[in-house]
Amino acid sequence: MRVLDDGAWISVNDDRKVRVSELWRLDAPDLCECALTDLVVENFQSVGVDGSTVEVRVYGQCIACGAAGTTGWIPVGRVRGSEFAEIDRSAVRRVRR
Ligand SMILES: [Zn+2]
Repeated sequence: MRVLDDGAWISVNDDRKVRVSELWRLDAPDLCECALTDLVVENFQSVGVDGSTVEVRVYGQCIACGAAGTTGWIPVGRVRGSEFAEIDRSAVRRVRR
C-alpha cells in the first residue's frame, strides 16, 4: 500500500487503485463550512491501514466555497485477503475522528 507519482495514485499490491482528480462528497466540518464538502482530490498525502480499512489523508479543494486543505483520515476501501475493494464512490465519506 503506497502513494505513487507524487501523490497522484494509491497503489495496492503494485496495482493502481485510487486516483486523484475525483470529486468526493465529504462530511468534513474541519475543512470548510459547507454542510457537505464537495472536494476535488488534488493530492494523496498519506495512506494507511487500520484493521481491514484503507484510509488516506488528502489535499484538496471544496468546489462550493473554495476552501482548500488537508483532510484527516478518510476510509476509501477495505482489504479482504489480498483483494482491495473501494468504498462506493457515490457514498458520503466521513473523516474519522
Ligand atoms: Zn466548502
